[in-house]
Amino acid sequence: MELILEEFQPIAAIATTIEGAKRLQFICQTGKATLWVPESLKIENSKIYKGSLKNHIAEIWQHYKSFIFSLAAGAVVRIIAPLLQNKSKDPAVVIIDETGKFAISICSGHQGGAEKLTRIIARKMGATPVLTGASAALNLPGIDILGIPFGWQRGRGDWKGVSAAVARGELVQVIQEDGSTLWQYHLPEKHPFYFQGIETSPPAAARIWISCKERFIKEYRIPEIQWHPRVLWVGVGCERGTSKKLIETAIEKVCRENQLAEKAIAGIATIDIKANEAGLVELCSERAWPLRTFSPDILRALKVPNPSTIVEAEVGTPSVAEAAAIAAATSHSQCPNPPIPTSNPLIVPKQIYRSEKQTGAATVAIARSEIEYTARSGKLLLVGTGPGDLEQMTPAAQSAIAAADAVIGYTLYIDLIAPLLRPGQIVESLPIKQERQRAQRAIALANWGLSVAVVSSGDAGIYGMAGLILEELKAQGWDGKTPAVQVFPGITAMQAAASRVGAPLMHDFCAISLSDLLTPWEVIEKRLTAAAMADFVTALYNPRSRNRTEQLVLAREIFLKYRHPDTPVAIVRSAYRKNEQIFLTTLEKFLEIPIDMFTTVLIGNHSTRTYAEWMITPRGYMGFDSANK
Ligand code: SAH
Repeated sequence: MELILEEFQPIAAIATTIEGAKRLQFICQTGKATLWVPESLKIENSKIYKGSLKNHIAEIWQHYKSFIFSLAAGAVVRIIAPLLQNKSKDPAVVIIDETGKFAISICSGHQGGAEKLTRIIARKMGATPVLTGASAALNLPGIDILGIPFGWQRGRGDWKGVSAAVARGELVQVIQEDGSTLWQYHLPEKHPFYFQGIETSPPAAARIWISCKERFIKEYRIPEIQWHPRVLWVGVGCERGTSKKLIETAIEKVCRENQLAEKAIAGIATIDIKANEAGLVELCSERAWPLRTFSPDILRALKVPNPSTIVEAEVGTPSVAEAAAIAAATSHSQCPNPPIPTSNPLIVPKQIYRSEKQTGAATVAIARSEIEYTARSGKLLLVGTGPGDLEQMTPAAQSAIAAADAVIGYTLYIDLIAPLLRPGQIVESLPIKQERQRAQRAIALANWGLSVAVVSSGDAGIYGMAGLILEELKAQGWDGKTPAVQVFPGITAMQAAASRVGAPLMHDFCAISLSDLLTPWEVIEKRLTAAAMADFVTALYNPRSRNRTEQLVLAREIFLKYRHPDTPVAIVRSAYRKNEQIFLTTLEKFLEIPIDMFTTVLIGNHSTRTYAEWMITPRGYMGFDSANK
């Protein structure tokens, strides 16, 4: 259930020495990559290649999406050089040096994903990612991967020319006519993009079109590229038995005549009785287009420019192509903020196409959606960032942040993980107390196809976002699979606090949150009493806020009924953060110490003792007995 490497698989890992193989074990152990070693090495769970490595790599080159070598860079370059074709086809190639200090992106950094893979691997092994691409240095998303999170397709253009202009820091005009503009709001302060229209623009050195149209303005003679968000829904009606070829030609023709890019096609829409129409089904599977079908009732309700009484008599709706295109383009069940259509979505009314060479006839109409179809299956990565210091965050959690398209969390925690963020990531920090909105936003983005990391401090599953997200998914009728969910555990506040004072949690313990915002106070009181009675070492989370001061006083009174006033208590504020404060005191006196929402209170059990500024709870019942003698 490892989600974050999915997009790079299958992965081949290659080593020629025992040390090299050991370096790669961490990624191969759980079957995330296949480890290839020469015959002379005896390594568990590895595959053996015979003969020269060069020949072997040539043989397996086509079968893997990514290669991770633990080998000298020179050797890798010589091996792969004859195999490289171009950057839209080549696999990602990453090298890990034998000391494990560096992960180096060698080629296919952008489209092959090598830079992202390098960042993820580096985080997993605590190495430094070495990225030599110009956009990485400028903290910008590569222009050739800009649209990947949203499923945009790369169109024609001078990709090298535009990349070079970006690398030189020259002004690059962006004309976005379709698709999400979310990426524009998450650029670094200094970036070369200019977003105004063509008339008002100062002279630009290059231009990026983001449009469903084929868009080149030749007379300017500057490098131009185009991305095509998939916003076009092609409504198709056809006679039974119409060939795939005829439908395909009809769509090509209509697109060409209207300067629409076929790459901007989201999918095909039709009436439900055509769900198994062979030509349509074949075409959709070949082009990886979804085939969306609608009932005559839904289609009939839509207003179209060219209704037909003949069609109505046959299938129960006066329009198939036009109505289905509109229906598909305006139903946004998966969309984060369903837009209200501002203009008529139908941009090409129905056209009937026949061919002398093929049987049947196809009617084609095209509607444009306000939101693009991403064709991606979203993920929710529920990440515990630990108490604060990045060193206390697990490598797996760090790699999840590096892998995500979007990172969502409370402002303070986003600031703490800022060094882990990747250029081009959508980073949304929301103020505290908006947890539910944060959960809904994260789910909406994941439903739309993005990989979303939701960060909580400590552990996401302990008074964190994991529960909220899963609850909300359940409320939305989630099938348990889409979006996929993975939880990345973190060191929770009570463990962090405990580590600062010794071993207070050594025996049975519990955590109780004093916040009665979501839990009634009677329940909290009952749990406090039970914990105090049962002699659990107790960690109090959310002990006190500016407006909520009484609960801690009451909690102390409850514990004093069952425990000695001298019972050791640790007060740890902002553990592993800049203003960390640690106090060792007693149950009787702990209210004298300043306690706020950044503080965790640890109350010892009967046998907990302090010793030279340390708080120790004995290991077992023996300890308990001897302490009570
Ligand atoms: N998911 C978090 C807990 C969130 S509830 C976790 O697993 O740690 C928030 C409470 O956690 C705070 O009121 C405080 O009691 C505690 N807390 C969080 N971070 C802390 C830190 N660095 N030091 C001390 N207490 C902390």
